[in-house]
Amino acid sequence: MCMDAFLPTAAYIKTIATQPAKQKNIAMDVLRLDEIHPLISGNKWFKLKQYLQQAAAANKKVIITFGGPFSNHIHATAAACKAFGFTAVGIIRGEEPKQLSPTLTDALALGMELYFVPREVYKLKEIPQTVLKKFPQALVINEGGYGKEGMLGAQEILSTWNQPSYTHIMAAVGTGTTLAGLITSALPHQKVIGISVLKNNASLQNEVVQLTGRAYTNYRILHNYHMGGYAKSSTALFTFMNKWYQQTAIPTDFVYTAKLFYGMNQLIKEDYFPENSKLLIIHSGGLQGNRSLPKDTLIF
Ligand SMILES: *Cc1c(COP(=O)(O)O)cnc(C)c1O
Repeated sequence: MCMDAFLPTAAYIKTIATQPAKQKNIAMDVLRLDEIHPLISGNKWFKLKQYLQQAAAANKKVIITFGGPFSNHIHATAAACKAFGFTAVGIIRGEEPKQLSPTLTDALALGMELYFVPREVYKLKEIPQTVLKKFPQALVINEGGYGKEGMLGAQEILSTWNQPSYTHIMAAVGTGTTLAGLITSALPHQKVIGISVLKNNASLQNEVVQLTGRAYTNYRILHNYHMGGYAKSSTALFTFMNKWYQQTAIPTDFVYTAKLFYGMNQLIKEDYFPENSKLLIIHSGGLQGNRSLPKDTLIF
């Protein structure tokens, strides 16, 4: 399979409208990266692509990476490695549970080898000796795909699709890698707005500058819409997700995209955007992670 498959096209754009947006003449297009591939979904595919190309060029057959038991990155890496013929190795945060999460069950079924590491050790992001011995030639990808290659891959999110009519580009932010890709590929008049899903992530700004290589002025990271912190949820969040789905037919994940759309909705109400703005909102996927929620929490 060719790695240039799965690029955004018009087919992945969904125009939505809400009452507050209509009143202010604000147009909203959602780029549904969640629909680009059934398994390698969302921004993770773009972040992985350059790493996989690098591995292929260096004739490396094994990819090692890190993540938690519900990690979208682990899930996407397992699927991409399977699709492109790499052996995937996942270093997983926490002791091996009696019952694997749906994410890890999928990863295992896709052929990923899983190594569980206690939380305190996982923090060090070291590859266990047994893994190093078994796969001395592997290419190692950071947790979440953080890094320059991830940023370069994320530039492709806009490269085939961006239109000058968009005034603002919005995305959920974890490591900032995707945001860095958007910042460095947006058109000069466009503003990029990142909704951070972590609480008090003071180092984020610096990490983005590290990635982009210089201080761009075309973006803002907003820190007020994490709704309690990373992967924190609440009845209010689930209510929003269900209402948003009823209104727009857009499913969201509770860790990233729900907070993105919630933040965007608030910003429109608070007149953050000038009238006649046209927003391109990046739906970065992550829906598989909703399987950690109790059944019937969500209507989709
Ligand atoms: C990983 C992820 C993000 C965050 O991407 P970064 O490049 O780490 O900022 C956003 N949305 C979803 C659905 C994700 O899985």
